[in-house]
Amino acid sequence: MINFRSAACAATLALGAGAVSAQETFITIGTGGQTGVYYVVGQSICRLVNRGSAEHGLKCTAPSTGGSVANINAIKAGDMDMGVAQSDWQFYAYNGSPQYEGGEFSDLRAVFSVHGEPFTVLARSDAGIETFEDLKGKRVNIGNPGSGQRGTMEVLMGKLGWSMDDFALASELKAAEQSAALGDNKVDAIIYTVGHPNGSIQEASTTTDAKLVPVTGEVIDTLIEENPYYAKAVIPGGMYKGSDEDTETFGVKATFVTSASVADDTVYQVVKAVFDNFDRFKGLHPAFANLTQEEMISGGLSAPLHPGAAKYYKEQGWIE
Ligand code: GLU
Repeated sequence: MINFRSAACAATLALGAGAVSAQETFITIGTGGQTGVYYVVGQSICRLVNRGSAEHGLKCTAPSTGGSVANINAIKAGDMDMGVAQSDWQFYAYNGSPQYEGGEFSDLRAVFSVHGEPFTVLARSDAGIETFEDLKGKRVNIGNPGSGQRGTMEVLMGKLGWSMDDFALASELKAAEQSAALGDNKVDAIIYTVGHPNGSIQEASTTTDAKLVPVTGEVIDTLIEENPYYAKAVIPGGMYKGSDEDTETFGVKATFVTSASVADDTVYQVVKAVFDNFDRFKGLHPAFANLTQEEMISGGLSAPLHPGAAKYYKEQGWIE
């Protein structure tokens, strides 16, 4: 991957005797699969940032990636400047918890949180899966390595004492591929930690006779009690075909993160582009509809705030 951060270049326009200098800085935001909500988060942020390129010189791109853990790894390696990551993976990476294999990333910085992401299990109606425990012995897409759902699924499996051998098949398809696999009866169930409503679950539940499966029980209750980055979550009934009742599960928050080594002014301009245009941002995806500034600058953040973000929040009087 190209390191765009070092690609800042100065374009100088000779205008008569004087010269106007415009510094261009390219920034890259890590997202997720194209059918997910992270991709929309990244694309939306870039769209707002790029509207002001003439003033601040930032040029933003937000390519599709493997998801949370891949984004954190890319930021750590200096290959990306910012990215979206689940609140649990922000915590694990910043603290160097054993769940995160990349080692402690003490330079990880929080910018803001975005929408909630329920841990979502969608099963074919003919698969006989009513509860999370019923996944045992079934063909389950546990997700690509690097995705948040794959990591969180492994955390959950660890708590339940399950191994990959407990499934008839544990496939590693990417989020964008799993709806079709469910429809083609290649798997009995798919897993996605994702904001709702989203096109991916919608596609899967309209093209396939499928239903959401609750993820509840003692192990989940303990997980929530012991870890501030997990919380109870509900996917509202009627949102997707085949799931008329509310589905109880647990969830995380999508968070926007960067590294301490990214310039304060860069992070400041990105944060300013989002919050100066907050209504427009919220209108870009239905999962953003209930966002509030207050919750976004506090909820789900375990790494320290990047100073460039803190500067904007102080200016607004949102933090001291
Ligand atoms: N939560 C997922 C992940 O961390 C991504 C969800 C999305 O793309 O919206 O990989």
